[in-house]
Amino acid sequence: MATQQIAPAINAWDVAQRQFDLAAEHLKLSPGLRRVLREPKRELTVHFPVKMDDGSVRVFTGYRVQHNLGRGPAKGGIRYHQDVTLDEVKALAMWMTWKCAVVGIPFGGGKGGVIVDPKKLSQRELEGLTRRFATEISIIIGPEKDIPAPDVNTNSQTMAWIMDTYSMHVGYTCPAVVTGKPIPLGGSEGRNEATAQGAVYTIQDAARHLGMDLAKCRVAVQGYGNAGAIAAQLMFAEGSKIIAVSDSTGAIYKPDGFDPNSVLAWKQEHHTVVGFPGTKEMSNAELLEVDCDILIPAALENQITAANAGRVKARIIAEAANGPTTPEADEILYKNAKFVIPDILCNAGGVTVSYFEWVQDLDRDFWSIEQVNAKLRSIMTKAFASTLDMSLKERVNMRTAAYMLAVQRVADATSVRGLYP
Ligand code: GLU
Repeated sequence: MATQQIAPAINAWDVAQRQFDLAAEHLKLSPGLRRVLREPKRELTVHFPVKMDDGSVRVFTGYRVQHNLGRGPAKGGIRYHQDVTLDEVKALAMWMTWKCAVVGIPFGGGKGGVIVDPKKLSQRELEGLTRRFATEISIIIGPEKDIPAPDVNTNSQTMAWIMDTYSMHVGYTCPAVVTGKPIPLGGSEGRNEATAQGAVYTIQDAARHLGMDLAKCRVAVQGYGNAGAIAAQLMFAEGSKIIAVSDSTGAIYKPDGFDPNSVLAWKQEHHTVVGFPGTKEMSNAELLEVDCDILIPAALENQITAANAGRVKARIIAEAANGPTTPEADEILYKNAKFVIPDILCNAGGVTVSYFEWVQDLDRDFWSIEQVNAKLRSIMTKAFASTLDMSLKERVNMRTAAYMLAVQRVADATSVRGLYP
């Protein structure tokens, strides 16, 4: 879902390290701790063969990175995308470390990715690719070691294949090795909606803080996958007007709003949001600058940059995506009094319900949707309040505040564990 027009050369790993450095500086972290937390603990690169439907063999490249295991096993999704790079996966793994720490769940950060455009593969080819990739990374994943989940272009079916492959290797059924599974395999109620639901909880808290009425807000959403489409539906249910949405093929706009549920039905039929009746087509870049109250980037990294941040009109930018805003853009948005709910806080609902799923699998005891959402609500509200307090107290933007909380927690765990050997 990249907006190709915007600075594709920005390196996500460079961005992630700069965000960390800024927080480390504010926290006056010791040079030793900075050196440790600035790099990933493990980076695994695999090249693996897959038999294609026409009988030919293709070799794919994939990665699994574990950034930090100080507070618990690595946790983070696996994405399938043609533009995946090792640096991107390293950034995403580091962001998972901070994300888990900011909401206080006992995981470190990990991430995986395969360089592939999954839309060009058949279901059988995708299954073969997934099972072989799972096999290749099985040397470092496991319910106590590293627990994958869905991310861009992967879903509960992908997780079912990984769970089955891993279980076949170890010789018993092991649901807790991945989260985001289908419910019959030990998935959790509410996990599919969790990223969007968590984001909407933070938007409610931000709106209350800013004195905004969600029923009067106009919302634009970039990306119409699991996070974006469900966020649009939940905001619509709040009474907000959804005025623009996009996917990797383009954006649609209608100033007096449309029903995001019908857009999803249209996308399922036509494989694009574009052409939805009554809307005007625009580009992904234009969507980011549309006149609205709440902008929800829910696609890929580096979308709001120094080049367009000054033209963002929304008051609230709720980062359902990972890494949508560069450090230069952050400064511009802060100067323009924009309220950014940073990714590591805004989209932490996904990994939080993943944690619930893991706990339920290990306990063999499953919770109702009401229990899941009540616990998610309380975790998100607490994390939002601590971040806002830190931001006001230290006079820093919400991202740096969230980083300060998270990095301090990981630094404390690292120091108290001590240096081995
Ligand atoms: N891929 C999601 C994220 O970026 C979820 C990760 C998880 O549930 O482990 O937060």
